[in-house]
Amino acid sequence: MIIVLKPDASEAQIKHIVTKVKALGLKPMISRGIERTLIGVIGEEEILRSQPLEVFPGVEKVMPVLSPYKLVSREFKPADTVVRVGDGVRVGGRKIVVMAGPCAVENYELLLSIAKSVKKAGATVLRGGAFKPRTSPYSFQGLGEEGLKFLAEARKKTGLPVITELMDVRDLELFEKHADIIQIGARNMQNFDLLKEVGRSKKPVLLKRGMASTVKDWLLSAEYILQNGNFNVILCERGIRTFETETRFTQDLSVIPVVKQKTHLPVVVDPSHAAGTWGLVPSMAKAAVAAGADGLLMEIHPKPEEALCDGQQSMLPEKFAALMKDLRKVAKAVGREI
Ligand code: PEP
Ligand code: MN
Repeated sequence: MIIVLKPDASEAQIKHIVTKVKALGLKPMISRGIERTLIGVIGEEEILRSQPLEVFPGVEKVMPVLSPYKLVSREFKPADTVVRVGDGVRVGGRKIVVMAGPCAVENYELLLSIAKSVKKAGATVLRGGAFKPRTSPYSFQGLGEEGLKFLAEARKKTGLPVITELMDVRDLELFEKHADIIQIGARNMQNFDLLKEVGRSKKPVLLKRGMASTVKDWLLSAEYILQNGNFNVILCERGIRTFETETRFTQDLSVIPVVKQKTHLPVVVDPSHAAGTWGLVPSMAKAAVAAGADGLLMEIHPKPEEALCDGQQSMLPEKFAALMKDLRKVAKAVGREI
């Protein structure tokens, strides 16, 4: 339910309603807009129906949330969510956030040299997988905990917050310690137990869209995280499976305005995994920014031919630096900045 307050509702009236909602055993979520304040309430419709919330002073009307997802919906929270990462990075504001780094953390020296070069080019978050979801059990599986420590060390050296993928709920504590953003990969988008666990965490979560998931599936997965108390969710489109085989996946850029309409959560685009080839990444990155993405997630490697994972889609640091220059121009043209 959404409690729509009158434009002149006082703080005392808002407090009174919030107290009442809590007394009913329900969780209120206050959303302050420019013109009016809304209070979102999730809970059993029956409890809410038995309470004439409409008659409370300051209330204009009470409306049901029509979409299947509640907390992630725009109806529930009209203003854009801005997710705070580390000390200075904000995802979802005017500034577009570029997250860049290797697919996998391979060793400390390489990670640090990539971190330094992406920082110099203007990236503000370092990416790198320590636990890798590989199709084949014979492929490099990642350095595990050691990789997380290398990421934390690279953060200390460069000041860049780090994003890395969590695959197993048993590793959450380690991620709480070392990561700044917990990535939930495409293959785990519907691992509901994992979603519930990261929902209980306070760390920002980047939720990738499953490669065969609809927007509704994706947003319902995000709902699991918010419903468990973590509102710091960033959505990430990384390409979906279609009949097309010229690219690794099909980048669904139309999803950006769609998701912006349906939810208040920020959305970033990963053109590396969608394209599957580094040469296609710049076009898709620029298109994503033009279409309204709040950020980009890209794979960078100085020796792609020797990369232990996803070399073919990893950009050389110098190509990345050149792309960043173009991205600044595109961002400016659409009223944003990088
Ligand atoms: C990754 O970011 O390295 C990754 C495995 O991505 P996805 O889950 O989108 O395949
Ligand atoms: Mn990868």
